[in-house]
This record gives sequence, C-alpha cells and structure tokens, in this order.
Amino acid sequence: MLYLLDPEPRTLNAEPFIAMPSRPYRHILVLADIEGSSGCGSYRASSFLTHPWASACMAMAKDVDAVVRALFTAGVPEVTVKDFHRTAYNLLPERIDGRARIVCGYRRGPVPGLGTPGGADAVMMLGMHAAAGTNGFLAHTLTSRLAALEVNGRPLAEVELFAASLAPYGIPAIFFSGCPEACSQARERIPGIQTLSIDKSVSPDRLKKRHWRGQLAQAAVQALANDTVSPYLPEGPFRAEITVRDGPAAASKMADPWDYPRSGSRVLIEAPDIHALYNRLIRLCYLPPKVEKTLPFGLMFYNAIGWLGRQWVRWQLRALSRR
Ligand SMILES: [Zn+2]
Repeated sequence: MLYLLDPEPRTLNAEPFIAMPSRPYRHILVLADIEGSSGCGSYRASSFLTHPWASACMAMAKDVDAVVRALFTAGVPEVTVKDFHRTAYNLLPERIDGRARIVCGYRRGPVPGLGTPGGADAVMMLGMHAAAGTNGFLAHTLTSRLAALEVNGRPLAEVELFAASLAPYGIPAIFFSGCPEACSQARERIPGIQTLSIDKSVSPDRLKKRHWRGQLAQAAVQALANDTVSPYLPEGPFRAEITVRDGPAAASKMADPWDYPRSGSRVLIEAPDIHALYNRLIRLCYLPPKVEKTLPFGLMFYNAIGWLGRQWVRWQLRALSRR
C-alpha cells in the first residue's frame, strides 16, 4: 500500500509525515454534497435546474475526481462515491476517474438514501455544510425548511446522522470537508475525524479551485492513516426540538400526519436511539404517510426526475462551452 506521502527517507528522530494505519482501508465510501464544494456560492447554485447549479455540478465532480484519483494513487483498491445532494443526480460520472463506482439517486434500505454500504470500511464526506440554525454557509439539516433543529439541547448536523447510519457496519467517518463552521462541528461531534475547510467568503469564480482541490486530495489521503476514529453511535434517548421555517401552517403539514407533538411552528420528536431519530426526521422532512406507503414508485419517479435534471446540466454545460 502507498499510504506514505513523504518521499524523503525517514530518520530516527523525525516524525513520519503519515503513520501507517494498523489495518489499511480497502474500500472508501465517499458521500458528496454540493454546498461545501468549490463551485457553489449561493443558495441558487444548490437549487435544481438553475444555471449556477449546472456549473456547481461540474465543480463538484472535479472536486470528487481529485479526491478519488488521489485515493487510488495512494493504494486504496476500491472507492464508491454516493451523490447525496437533493436529487442525488449532481455528479457527472464522465468527469470522475473511471475506477470509482459512482452511485446516483436514492435507494431504500437499512442506510437511508444509500441502501447498504456495500463493503466499505471507512467513509469520507465532501462538500458538506453546517447544522440548521448555525452560522455556516447555507447551514441546514436534511432540508432548508427547518430553521433550527436541536437535539438534546444542541444543533444536530448531518455528519452525525450519516456517520451514525453507517456505524452498525463498523464504518468510521475519517474525513470531512465543508465550510469552517461545518468542519468545526464535525470535529466536535466526531472525535478524531480529520477535516479540510473551504473559504466560502471567496466566490467560486475567484476561488483558486485547482490549488484547493490539491489540498483537499492531499488531506483525504492523509486521513487514510486515521485509525483513531470509532464508528459514531451516540447513546439515546433523544429529544429533537424543531422550528419549521415557514411557520405553523407548514409545520402542521409536515408534523400532524405523523402525530408529532407540535406547538405553532415548533415540532417535538422523541426517539430511543439515533436510528429511530433519523427515520422520524426523514418522515417529517420528506415522507408524508401517503408517500411512504408508495415509496418504491415514489423513489423511481424522484430518481427519474433527478436523472433528467442531470441531462439538462450536461446540455447547459455543452451550450456554455460553445459560447
Ligand atoms: Zn446538499
């Protein structure tokens, strides 16, 4: 395995640049979001079928490609990339190293959105954002319709939900990238996770993308030596206090069909463990009972819309390149 980056011979009293992990990771799962990627500078750029979104998709694919290439060069035999933004059809597989398996669209299964982790032994999260109700760039948790989401008194970030959903498979979250606030939340919640931040005060057209992607790829490779993180499984019970952004009517529409206690735009969800909490939040945010009952069809339809949206992105990018 080629986990050592440092080409210099080591001397006895010098620290190695990267220590060899006791058990090298053989299959890295990459979860890719767009808000903390190098091409997303606004809410519009994260929104389906907008012009800035098309450019952001391209930049996101290039970010992922830089990481994937570096992981293969470092000796990782297998990399799976799962698109995790909105429709889950943002990544352009033709722009990403062909050795990686790119998974778009959402799947049913024990790991929400993903189905199963397919034998991955560590997860890296790229392009992420901070928790709802905090100061990060486009901060939200699961959906921007939640203005705030506090669990047992502190904001809940997606990094916790995603990492916890993979914990039953013994998969640790070893690397994370996003805005500085998102990174500091990740480090605080998941002890030992390594992070690389992106400066969101610089607009995507002024950001030195190549340089930053180089740093991102190098940081991801360094995280291959990270064997200090345990699978993340916080102990319950959990009490989630949620504020719905668009007020009581919107909160009623989301919460009442599931009989979640509600007062005005504030919703309460209680859960004995983190998996139940995640499932109940998914129901609140995405799945009214009628949709949940017809989920196989709903998912097929949703994935088809996403696939068509990505065709639109390709068409936009071709038109741009001809200008
Ligand atoms: Zn996203």
